[in-house]
Amino acid sequence: MDAALHLALPFIFLVLAGVNKKHALMLLPLAILPDLGRFLYIRKGFHSFFFIFAVLVALYLIVVAMKRKKHAKELLAIGAFYLFAHLLLDLGSFMALFYPFSGQTYALQARIVLVDLIPTLILGMEQGGLSELEQGIGGVLSEQGLGVLVLVGSIIVYLKYKGKEAIKLG
Ligand SMILES: [Zn+2]
Repeated sequence: MDAALHLALPFIFLVLAGVNKKHALMLLPLAILPDLGRFLYIRKGFHSFFFIFAVLVALYLIVVAMKRKKHAKELLAIGAFYLFAHLLLDLGSFMALFYPFSGQTYALQARIVLVDLIPTLILGMEQGGLSELEQGIGGVLSEQGLGVLVLVGSIIVYLKYKGKEAIKLG
């Protein structure tokens, strides 16, 4: 999936859910972290449950080291949400979900097709080896993605402005 959508969609959900916006923004890079493997040539290891677990442990240690233990629960929840949302948005492409314990890749598919003109949900799973790891290698940023990024940018600016107004009035 497009990088912009990976960033924008989970962030919008968190903002709508009323999560601390500063924290949501601070941890936003986690939403795209699994795709950064492509620049390090270890992409296969980045879409796995083990990687997510390791990142969350690291996040906890950083939070404790920065003496922000008070917010640990919320920060970890946001981090976990971003990372799992990434996998969710990548559904349909091959991911080595259990790397490094297994190089097997899985592509979960959910499609709605017409069967005798009746819309039917079809769930499926394809398996492949690591050689089939091509996911996300196409466009990093599409026109739609750019549009979403601009949209989210304006939402952030708006929220900041609104926040300032609230302080002035209060
Ligand atoms: Zn990805």
